[in-house]
Amino acid sequence: MIASSDLIAELKQRGAERVALQAPEGLKRRLPELALDLQSAGFTVFVSGDPCYGACDLDIDLLKDADLLIHLGHAPVDKTERILYDIFRMDFDPEVVLNAIPYFTTGRIGLVTTVQHAHLIPEICRILKEVGISVTVAEGSDRTPYPGQILGCSFEAARRTGETEILYLGTGVFHPLGVQIATGAKVIACDPYTKQIEEVNGERLLRRRYALIEKAKPAEKIGILVSPKSGQARRELAAKLASLSPKAILVQLREVTPDQLLNLGLPCYVNTACPRLAYDDQVRWPVPVLTPQEFEILCGVRGFEDYEVDEIK
Ligand code: SF4
Repeated sequence: MIASSDLIAELKQRGAERVALQAPEGLKRRLPELALDLQSAGFTVFVSGDPCYGACDLDIDLLKDADLLIHLGHAPVDKTERILYDIFRMDFDPEVVLNAIPYFTTGRIGLVTTVQHAHLIPEICRILKEVGISVTVAEGSDRTPYPGQILGCSFEAARRTGETEILYLGTGVFHPLGVQIATGAKVIACDPYTKQIEEVNGERLLRRRYALIEKAKPAEKIGILVSPKSGQARRELAAKLASLSPKAILVQLREVTPDQLLNLGLPCYVNTACPRLAYDDQVRWPVPVLTPQEFEILCGVRGFEDYEVDEIK
């Protein structure tokens, strides 16, 4: 049984009878069992089978047919009502942070991680303090409700540490790269599972982005992509960007895929949906997909020296 008595009690307390379930791809296989548990407890259950990439991607259509949506794996990024978030916590041996200590020089660091590991922050701070490291953990933006939590679209908890050396705990390279570009700090990434430690440097990414802006210059039409997803829809930003160029066309797109971009046939796009689409997925796109800030550089209203990583604020 994976539906805990606490969860069932909370659903009852909220008066929910019809419950929708949603999870990102990596957790989706938990949904059928959860659905059966909840059905046995007397709830009517609907499972969302559509792709889900984050708490920014709530199945609002399904919620119209339910009293409440249980969203697994993420913390809230906005104030959408009738959502019950169930973060999927992931543990690791917190002593792994000791491997990163030789990389720091000042004796004081900022600490950031992703939501799955945010519950380990107090223990990690204790371990670092014991070896004489002063640790700053900061509150993030409205999109990151846990202290020290960052997202691929919000590095505020890193910026607010004010530290010049930052430790990122987690997997993947995108988050620490984002922290590095957003803060200009020395960023050490510690993968708690492989125990690999590395200093990340955003320079190479910035050189690639500069080349992409150059490649986009001859484009005679430019699609400004707007997402209808609950926590990604930056319509005002898209309209502002569109006003910068007579070549710009607003394009609403729920799922951005290479085929969709090819079918539209435009020679360049600007992404106002999830910021990671432009950075992480560029190799998949048939043409340049710029961030809003890169489009401003293309239009001459921002200099490359004022480059900022794209975040949803
Ligand atoms: S917008 Fe992108 S990075 Fe931000 S929460 Fe959604 S999927 Fe994650």
